[in-house]
Amino acid sequence: MRAGHYENNPDTVRCMIRHSRETIEELIARGVRFEREANGELAYTREGAHSRPRIVFHADCTGKEISSHLLRAVQKLPNVILRPHTTMVDLLFDETKTQCLGAIVRDNKTKELTAVHAGNTVLATGGVGGLFPHSTNFRILTGDGVGVALEHGIAVDHPEYVQFHPTTLYTQRRGRSFLISESVRGEGAQLINAAGERFVDELLPRDVVTAAIRREMRREGSRFVRLDLRTVAGGAQTLAHHFPGIVERCREEGYDVYSEPIPVVPAQHYFMGGIRVDKYSKTTMDDLYAVGETACNGVHGKNRLASNSLLESLVFAKRAASDMAENFGKHERLAANVRLSDYKGCDRDYKKIVLKEIERMKKEHEQHNNDDERR
Ligand SMILES: Cc1cc2nc3c(=O)[nH]c(=O)nc-3n(C[C@H](O)[C@H](O)[C@H](O)COP(=O)(O)OP(=O)(O)OC[C@H]3O[C@@H](n4cnc5c(N)ncnc54)[C@H](O)[C@@H]3O)c2cc1C
Repeated sequence: MRAGHYENNPDTVRCMIRHSRETIEELIARGVRFEREANGELAYTREGAHSRPRIVFHADCTGKEISSHLLRAVQKLPNVILRPHTTMVDLLFDETKTQCLGAIVRDNKTKELTAVHAGNTVLATGGVGGLFPHSTNFRILTGDGVGVALEHGIAVDHPEYVQFHPTTLYTQRRGRSFLISESVRGEGAQLINAAGERFVDELLPRDVVTAAIRREMRREGSRFVRLDLRTVAGGAQTLAHHFPGIVERCREEGYDVYSEPIPVVPAQHYFMGGIRVDKYSKTTMDDLYAVGETACNGVHGKNRLASNSLLESLVFAKRAASDMAENFGKHERLAANVRLSDYKGCDRDYKKIVLKEIERMKKEHEQHNNDDERR
């Protein structure tokens, strides 16, 4: 709540916390491997704004470990058809747009359009990093779910709440920014300026650390600050064991983390806003759900607490699934109003809609803050 500036929804926060233990246990039962202490107990790491180590992890690629196991589990389900390289271009509705009836998708290779009719539809299109020049996200993540919601009057909350990660590896190469995980700072890495001096408590919330880095860069007229990994507790052994991906990537970029600080800079990282959903991940449109980063259930408030996103995605996606299973077939199904020919040759691009809304709400927010200050 403190990291989120107390704008979090206490109800969804409580819900997430209460379901965290069972979620982790379910992942372990599905074969997901988390680090363990010598006595076999789960090992915990710490990141910015956490009061103590409480994050389970797998080396420095926890998300990959989780998603690869879940994908394998889904691939084994006989009733699931996966359609990779397929883009959702729009949603299907009834004539009066009160119920979502599926989606229109396009095969990325053949460009063929298909109307997928569905009892329930779930938007899980991720964040908005592809809209920003520097982001840790894949470039393809351009907020399509949020765009389609805005286009059809489905409620979206706080699109201006975009999180910047304080420490990504500074590089002049183009493409996705490489994240230097916050748990490196949690384990003792220090942020220093060109003179080698510390200028911020590294474990403050992300937005505070990002602002301090930007201030220091402006003061120095520099393009980055430095992160010294040599102060990590446990030294070289911790770095090699806990952060092998980071050590390797820095080496590829020409930095030896064991003997020198590395250049770091903030980059867009996470989207706290999104399609408005309730505790069951239901949007304001009947039979339409949204989960993961594209959804906003208020858990993160104005600034996400590090490492809460995977947990949030898992807890609330499961709640959506349970809700769908419980209510399946109970609603009257309306007829879809669709003409695929309307979509032929028209390349729906939601980027502009989403960016415009982010900018509009940012200005509104700033205006509101200025008014408050004047009062
Ligand atoms: C480098 C990095 C490190 C992170 N580390 C952590 C961490 O340690 N702990 C933590 O909790 N969180 C972490 N996060 C955040 C977390 O990984 C994300 O918030 C989470 O993966 C979002 O999951 P998602 O399923 O909502 O979206 P994603 O995993 O981004 O998936 C969205 C999917 O939707 C697809 N898609 C998008 N638009 C369309 C469309 N129009 N049609 C069809 N498909 C579409 C995309 O191709 C993608 O496959 C990290 C994020 C990054 C970038």
